Amino acid sequence: MAIRTIVTVPHPVLRRKARRVTEFGPELQQLVHDMIETMRAAPGVGLAAPQVNVSQRVIVVEYEDEDEGIPHQLYAVVNPRVVWASAETEWGVEGCLSIPGVAGEVERARAVTVVGQDPQGRDLRLELEGWVARIFQHEIDHLNGVLFTDRARRVWRLEENAAPSAAV
Ligand SMILES: [Zn+2]
Repeated sequence: MAIRTIVTVPHPVLRRKARRVTEFGPELQQLVHDMIETMRAAPGVGLAAPQVNVSQRVIVVEYEDEDEGIPHQLYAVVNPRVVWASAETEWGVEGCLSIPGVAGEVERARAVTVVGQDPQGRDLRLELEGWVARIFQHEIDHLNGVLFTDRARRVWRLEENAAPSAAV
């Protein structure tokens, strides 16, 4: 495993539409392992492959919230796609490892259903709500070259060394 460099704006890979993954071989396994390690080292709660300069449709998400009673969960999803989104939306504060020092308020669907594959190529279907649904929407945006600042109604600079509530 290796920690990869996280690219930041205005790196062009962040604006590219990432390619669909068709090969589930050792290269993909290595990428997923490296992305998990890179996300943990950052630290962040999610990471999309374009953020490590790989224009492929792969995301990792890791999250837990003891206060909310949400157990530790680690997701690695290949070719993720939102197939259903709730009409109900929520505003929440997001940050991004590729846009250091900035946070913003973004409106997201409160719940989504995501389909895709696991790193071994098996079909996945995830029904997500709340914070984890937000993280998935942020990461899937990355695969389409969309950044949270494109959607935010208010964006502000963080105090030096202040971590956003979620860097993804
Ligand atoms: Zn991000």
